[in-house]
Amino acid sequence: MVTEYQLIILGGGPAGLTAGIYAARNKLNVLMIEKAMVGGLAIYAESIENYPGFPDGIGGIELGELMLKQAQKFGLKTLTAEVTGLDITGQSKVIKTTEGDLSAKAVIVALGSERINLNVPGEKEYVGRGVSYCATCDAAFFKDMPVAVVGGGNSAISEAIHLTKFASQVNLIHRRDQLRATPLFVDKAKSEPKIKFILSTTVDAVQGDSAVESLQLNDVKTGKKSVLPVSGVFVAIGQSPNTALVKNILSVDANGYIITNEKMETSVPGVLAAGDIRSNSIRQTISAAGDGATAAIYADRYLGT
Ligand code: NAP
Repeated sequence: MVTEYQLIILGGGPAGLTAGIYAARNKLNVLMIEKAMVGGLAIYAESIENYPGFPDGIGGIELGELMLKQAQKFGLKTLTAEVTGLDITGQSKVIKTTEGDLSAKAVIVALGSERINLNVPGEKEYVGRGVSYCATCDAAFFKDMPVAVVGGGNSAISEAIHLTKFASQVNLIHRRDQLRATPLFVDKAKSEPKIKFILSTTVDAVQGDSAVESLQLNDVKTGKKSVLPVSGVFVAIGQSPNTALVKNILSVDANGYIITNEKMETSVPGVLAAGDIRSNSIRQTISAAGDGATAAIYADRYLGT
């Protein structure tokens, strides 16, 4: 027998958890499905210093656990399972999971995005000890230290510009001799004396002892290898939304992110999206939480409770 809910939330990051708090507190029969640990990409942040209410910062894992506790206090049900298929275009929405099929009248898709990794030796080992994927989150830890940003798109440039407020030097390393970022952005970066462009260069390895100390570089034009001393490296080579299950069902933008209106409604009635998976998200914990609250409120209105 298929278990039926009023609302099912897919994903247990800040968007899904906040949607869970709002929906459960509004007395909906609501289930949140998460395949692994709650907290989303925020779990990689050692300390989140820009989430309101925590003047001394809070660990990403701890914040996720607190949000879950808060949601469960109001009656959010949770299931640890992987979503394997969706049939959500009709009035009754079927969610197929590794733990069986479920159904709901409304669904909030809050599956987040995956960062793209460099996949070089040392990257994984030094996450949280010099390797970061978010300058907004971690730049302040590198005050007066030399850092590097990897990537040539708008994210890399905006991360580099943000880092100039803290770091002593920002080395922008890009694999080609042309940057992908918009010219206006590039001009701004070029006018920042702290930013040094290292083009046509790849990072072969991240090196250090207890924390990052240097990068092994490769000049792709000459084949020359070199070592760049840095205390931190910000990988900004893109993110990909976890939309494999929904991209053929919901409208998505050119980069594959789900298009919503300001109510977080998607192209399918009764299906809402929230957080990093959403087109034009600023990909911050606080914005994901805000999206989750909005989505839960409009899911409730859709249900007419
Ligand atoms: P992106 O535009 O896809 O750029 C990714 C960059 O990383 C590219 O320069 C790419 O190199 C490089 N790259 C990819 N894989 C790599 C690898 N394995 N090793 C080394 N370099 C690699 O991604 P994004 O910068 O995250 O931007 C995503 C979207 O968000 C874009 O549409 C962007 O405009 C938007 N965005 C906008 C703003 C804004 O303020 N307007 C800020 C951030 C992001 P190649 O160039 O050689 O392919």
